[in-house]
Amino acid sequence: MKFSALILLLFCLSACQKAPLNEETESKKVQLDELEILESTYDEDSTKESSLKKDGTRQAWTDYSNYAEVDEDGYAYYMQENPDISSEIFPLYDSSDHKVLLFTFDDAPQRPNSYALEIAQQLKAKDVNAIFLVNGMFLTEEKGRKITKQIYDMGFEIGNHTQHHPNLKEMTYDQQYQEIKQTSDLVEEITGEKPRWFRPPFGLFNMDTYQICQELEMQLMTWNFGYDWMDEYLESEALLEVSLNNDYLRAGANILMHDRPWTNGAISRMVDGYREQGYHIVDPLLIRKPNFEKES
Ligand SMILES: [Zn+2]
Repeated sequence: MKFSALILLLFCLSACQKAPLNEETESKKVQLDELEILESTYDEDSTKESSLKKDGTRQAWTDYSNYAEVDEDGYAYYMQENPDISSEIFPLYDSSDHKVLLFTFDDAPQRPNSYALEIAQQLKAKDVNAIFLVNGMFLTEEKGRKITKQIYDMGFEIGNHTQHHPNLKEMTYDQQYQEIKQTSDLVEEITGEKPRWFRPPFGLFNMDTYQICQELEMQLMTWNFGYDWMDEYLESEALLEVSLNNDYLRAGANILMHDRPWTNGAISRMVDGYREQGYHIVDPLLIRKPNFEKES
């Protein structure tokens, strides 16, 4: 729009040069009116505010109209807040379908070969949103930063998975804080948005981790099931098979995956398989994060 406004301005300016004086004044007035209209359309169409919720989180972009009813803030689900048990997804309203699954991808964008971007492209083509949880150590180089930015720009959520993937339980509060804060800062620097999801490496955490997440306003999550790091499933067909048929698959399940080649090879058919079973892959932007009440 801005570009066309410029073209219009140039066109009008060149036209005005040939116009008599009184017409010129008229013409300039028309010109200004038109520009104002163009400017206001521009503001409405493409400023970021229109695609943000009140809390600054982006609006869900997948088509959820057939399964979820959103509240006035644009949320339809919440995540169970006790990751010791699980991190399942539940609807805020009875009218929303509980038969949803959440897709999450850890350790992104892995070195040397991350498949995060390919996975994101396949998901986007199927109208599926997901959370990519990054390790800050992969964001110190241009390649990792670029992949992360591209995935974010495609509309996916970027979560925090620590800087160096340590066992947080073996660390002091300050060490944990460093590990977590560093990655949040990097994500914010790259995307302009603070991550709102945190997953501890190996699913290991303690009360300090909780408190740090509270302070940084992130929800700590674990998962319900995931297979793509186990020896038997480092291959697309086996991974697809177990992902679609296992005892942990149920409404609200939080599925852990990684940006690996076999996951990339299975992901598209996995979406189809889940949909055939009647599941919706929930847009994480429909999931409300908890209120982080700050003591004052
Ligand atoms: Zn991990």
